[in-house]
Amino acid sequence: MAYDLELTGVEKVYDNGTMAVRNFDLQVEKGEFISFVGPSGCGKTTTLRMIAGFESITSGEIQIRGRRINELPAEQRPTSTIFQNYALFPHMTVRQNIEYGLSVKGFKAAQRREKAEGIMAKLELLEVADRRHDVLSGGQRQRIALARGLAVEPDILLLDEPLGSLDANLRKSIQNELKLLQRNLGITFIFVTHAQSEALVLSDRVVVMNRGEVEQISPPYELYTRPKTSFVAQFIGRNTNIPGTIKDRDGDIVVVDTIYGALRGFLTDGALEDGAQVIAVVPSEAIDVHPDSIDREELVGRYQGNVVEGQVRAAYVVGHTVFNAIELSDGREVNIESHIEKYRNVFETGTSRVHLTWLPNEATVIGKG
Ligand code: ADP
Repeated sequence: MAYDLELTGVEKVYDNGTMAVRNFDLQVEKGEFISFVGPSGCGKTTTLRMIAGFESITSGEIQIRGRRINELPAEQRPTSTIFQNYALFPHMTVRQNIEYGLSVKGFKAAQRREKAEGIMAKLELLEVADRRHDVLSGGQRQRIALARGLAVEPDILLLDEPLGSLDANLRKSIQNELKLLQRNLGITFIFVTHAQSEALVLSDRVVVMNRGEVEQISPPYELYTRPKTSFVAQFIGRNTNIPGTIKDRDGDIVVVDTIYGALRGFLTDGALEDGAQVIAVVPSEAIDVHPDSIDREELVGRYQGNVVEGQVRAAYVVGHTVFNAIELSDGREVNIESHIEKYRNVFETGTSRVHLTWLPNEATVIGKG
């Protein structure tokens, strides 16, 4: 079976010489929700536009369900695109806007009416079908844009920062709606966003890009817990990245020599040998904080050596969450956010010296590159 979408060695060089996308490989199964994330200018939109047909492909190949589409004009591709500003026409009613999308793809009048009616029923837009969209709320406009994109029954829906212009609360509720809709329809979604939290909540897999290149393609949980590159370790989640050298190993767990002593972590890249320069990536969620009244040797045993000394520099509470800034011996600051109950006894005693611990398996050791 062919993939719903397959990119092989896709590259984009703009006329002015900008290398926007390099050697992009991706295979997407039908019904997957894939997000592209990365800093501004990393090539997310360019890639989406090449899939949509709004931008030519300099080299490589894009296939949809096994068919090469490199040379196919946008309107003949089995894709729809939802833009951040929705690109709806203010002088048209909701129904006309949706039918317009269908006419661009060449549907005849009777089909346009039938398909528009069907999708409006599905997205609960029939009530406002004959109103102009500019009198409707942000959430409704979002739904109209989705309806216009989905009415043509695309194989793949491309979404370019579609929630970017909504306020935070509305964004959350539309996120849920979007995910439910995608599950129900079983359509492949490719979603571009600069908000990593949105991508992590919505996606089956996330593509992290940096300077035109793919850094990692993984399910959200894996991106958090097993970053593959130092860029991903810095970009996703809140990690403490400790440099060091591999000193010893026991299966997948390696001992890394660091300025805080010997620390253990999980090695994902078996090719890294003893003596290699690495980074131990410790997610903030994996760190436990203990008052210094607890015996260090006991913690060393319990956490297999992963005990680092720190000094609490700031602690404040917002609702049920406590935020702590803890300084390590070399001045590095570790920020920890946790439920207030977890550390009530640590921070209410006025303790300022603490032990930080984590289990070896919860830290990932990656190459320094
Ligand atoms: P992102 O969506 O991740 O913010 P883009 O795909 O928009 O990134 O841009 C990738 C790179 O290509 C950037 O360096 C950007 O300046 C450049 N770029 C985007 N569009 C054009 C264009 N039409 N002509 C020349 N360079 C462009």
